[in-house]
Amino acid sequence: MSKKIVKVGNLEIGNGNIVIQSMTNTKTTDVEGTIKQILELEKAGCEIIRCSVPTKESAYALKDIVKSVHIPVVADIHFSSELAILAAENGAAKIRINPGNIGSLEKVKYLASFLKERNIPIRIGVNGGSLDKKFKHLGVVDGMVESALEHVHLLEDCNFDDIIISCKSSNVFNMINAYRKLSQKVDYPMHIGVTEAGTYKQGLIKNAIGIGGLLVDGIGDTIRVSLTDEPVKEVYAAQDILKACNMYNHPYCEIISCPTCARTEISVQKYAEEIENYCKDINKNIKIAVMGCIVNGIGESEGADFGVAGGKDHSMIFKDGKEIAIVKNEEILDRIKELINNF
Ligand code: SF4
Repeated sequence: MSKKIVKVGNLEIGNGNIVIQSMTNTKTTDVEGTIKQILELEKAGCEIIRCSVPTKESAYALKDIVKSVHIPVVADIHFSSELAILAAENGAAKIRINPGNIGSLEKVKYLASFLKERNIPIRIGVNGGSLDKKFKHLGVVDGMVESALEHVHLLEDCNFDDIIISCKSSNVFNMINAYRKLSQKVDYPMHIGVTEAGTYKQGLIKNAIGIGGLLVDGIGDTIRVSLTDEPVKEVYAAQDILKACNMYNHPYCEIISCPTCARTEISVQKYAEEIENYCKDINKNIKIAVMGCIVNGIGESEGADFGVAGGKDHSMIFKDGKEIAIVKNEEILDRIKELINNF
C-alpha cells in the first residue's frame, strides 16, 4: 500500500486504508437517475463514485449531483482539459484524466495548477486495451507501466503530485504484473481493478484474483470491481474481496462451512445459507461454523467463535472449540441465532 496519502474530498486514500469505489451507468445528464443510483450505491457501502463526463452538459450536471450525495464524485474525462476544469468547477472531488493526452504542455500546466489550488487530485488511468501506440513495442505490461510513468512525470514536472494511478487490463495476468512493476517504481496510491472483466460469474473470478492477488501482495489503495451487471453488485463483490483478504474495515459475520462429504449428517448448505441470511445486517465480528459431522467438524472449523457440527438426529453446538450443548437438529438454527444475538 502506498505510504503517500491522497485526499479525495474528505476521504483519505493510501497508507493502508482501502477504499471501495464504483461507477454509475446512468447518463450523467440524467441528474435524478444518477443521484438515485449513487444513493443506492452509498447504502451498499460504496465510498467513492465515478461518473463519465463526456460533454459540457454532463460537467454542469455534476453540480446538482454532488449536492445531493454524500460520497466524493470523480469525473471521468478523456482528452479534454476544458471538461476537466468545468467538472472541477462543478464539484468533482477527483479528475480521472491522462494528462499526456490533452494536448500542449501549457494545457497540462494550467490544469495542474488549477486543480492544485483546489486540492483536487488526478487519477491517471492507463488501460491495456487502449495503450498508446508508442508503447506497444514494449508489450502490454511494460507498455502500461511506461505509459503511466510518462503521465506521472508530466504532472511532476508541473509541480503536481496529488496523483493516484491505475493500470488496468482485462487480462488478469497483465494487470497484476503491471501493478507489481509500477509499485516498485513509484509510491503513489494505486486504484486497482480488472477492466472489462465480463459478466457476473466470470467477472467475479477475474476481479477476485486480480484485485485480491494484488492486495495480499500489499498493492492497492482503492478498488473498483468491474462487472457487466448492476453497479451495486460491484460494491458487494468489492466487500467480499476485502473480507477474503482480511482487509475489510467494518464488522461482519463470516460463515465457515464445510464442502460436505460422505460423513455429512445435516444439510450444511441449508443451515449455512439461512445463518448467512440471518447475519446480513448484524454488525458484529463473528465467525460461525456449519460443519457436516461431529468427527471432523470442530477440528476443521478452527478459528470459529461458535458453530454446529452435524449428527444424525442430534447435533453438537460448540463454542471456542468446545462442546457446549447437544441439541435436536430442529433446534440448531434457534441455538445458533441465540449465540449470535448474545455475542
Ligand atoms: S466436516 Fe465432516 S462432513 Fe464436512 S467435509 Fe469435513 S468430514 Fe465431511
